[in-house]
Amino acid sequence: MSSPSIIASAFCLATLAAAELPKAPPAPRPDDRFKADILIIVAHPDDETAVTGYLAKAIFDEHRRVAVVFGTRGDGGGNAMGNEQAAALGAEREIEARRALAFFGVMNVWFLGGPDTPGQDVLRSLETWNHGAALAQAVRLVRLTRPEVILTWLPLYVAGENHGDHQASGVIATEAFDLAGDPTAFPEQISPPRDRQNISNLTEGLQPWQPKKLYYFSDASHTDFLEGKGPRYATTGVSPSRGVPYYRLAAEEMTFHLTQGDTGQLAKEAIAKGDFKYFEQPVLLILGKSLVKSSVTSDVLDGIAEGRSPFAPVPGYRPPNREGLSIELGGPWSFYREFWKAHALDHLAALLSTPEVAIAPGERLHLPLVIHNATAETRNVELSATIPQGWSVAAGQAVYPVDAHNAYPVETVLASPQQSEPAWQAVVWKAEVEGKSVGSITVRVNLATGGLPQ
Ligand SMILES: [Zn+2]
Repeated sequence: MSSPSIIASAFCLATLAAAELPKAPPAPRPDDRFKADILIIVAHPDDETAVTGYLAKAIFDEHRRVAVVFGTRGDGGGNAMGNEQAAALGAEREIEARRALAFFGVMNVWFLGGPDTPGQDVLRSLETWNHGAALAQAVRLVRLTRPEVILTWLPLYVAGENHGDHQASGVIATEAFDLAGDPTAFPEQISPPRDRQNISNLTEGLQPWQPKKLYYFSDASHTDFLEGKGPRYATTGVSPSRGVPYYRLAAEEMTFHLTQGDTGQLAKEAIAKGDFKYFEQPVLLILGKSLVKSSVTSDVLDGIAEGRSPFAPVPGYRPPNREGLSIELGGPWSFYREFWKAHALDHLAALLSTPEVAIAPGERLHLPLVIHNATAETRNVELSATIPQGWSVAAGQAVYPVDAHNAYPVETVLASPQQSEPAWQAVVWKAEVEGKSVGSITVRVNLATGGLPQ
């Protein structure tokens, strides 16, 4: 047993020792060379040109710091300059993108390393990009660049170019927005190093970071559903610092992508001819979410004060309540329905009142359907299509035995007419049991040439 006087003298010694401790240096701070106001997360080298009409103003006249993340190096597609293809083309396009962005003073540029995946199905792109690894890198880059705002492609199936890679970058950017502030997500990235001046630390020493606003832009062929959903930036104004219109700066930035006929070559020709019609289109953004006070259409940086924002958890996945028999549009469509809810983006579900897709005449329309049976017994569900003249059913019309408390995924295929004037048409899939409807799916189809296979 210790006597009270012994305890008192031990306490005294400890206090004296503390007073003599050396002072530690200040904690290392995040590296400000990498701090961004705006982080752009897109799919391909040249995708940044979708918003350069706005970035010209933000960078040259508002002195915003911008960083860019590309999902791929652009290893697919035609080469308007030479024979280089595949990985060689990707190596060229990485440099084209770096040079284009350097023209705007943007030097902090990274590539997630996914392959170009032509098509309109976001799930195929997420697969080939190795979703988990790409997301880990995106979260790392959000923590490194600490952006106030993220701008990315709209995660929605639209009629238009509707590239699955574009959508994949929007999905990953959204996930990164919601995860980068969560210390339990990729915790190895935020564990401080044992000795930062030495080797073999193995953990990364970043800090969690919650961005404050998330904006989208779309490559839909029609923009009616985007009006008023976010800020709109005219590109015809003259940059006070540069003395030329913003569209001219955007065109010049695009000229670096010379392997790409529909961007670099187009811009080169526009400048040679002095015809800037293409670049005079306004930049339309869609507000995904804002953690600060700011209106839907106000400026991207409106309401933002620099500094840390508390982590803003999202609801996450909640299983839907199903009763009886039902049918839903599956694949990317059903993914998005749950994705938006999980990420507090419910308003994106209201952008299109009817699902839509664009295909070229003669192409096949693949619509994945899911028949749900929440009853206690197996049910036989008949699927049939109602289609416009000139179309035919290639797969999907049948009677499906759907097990109790289970679902039956069906890949339906419709063949569109070989020739058609550009037109919007509707196709309908109906589900019935013994002549009684259990639901139907309507999809608007834009028959138009160009764009990607579905
Ligand atoms: Zn692209």
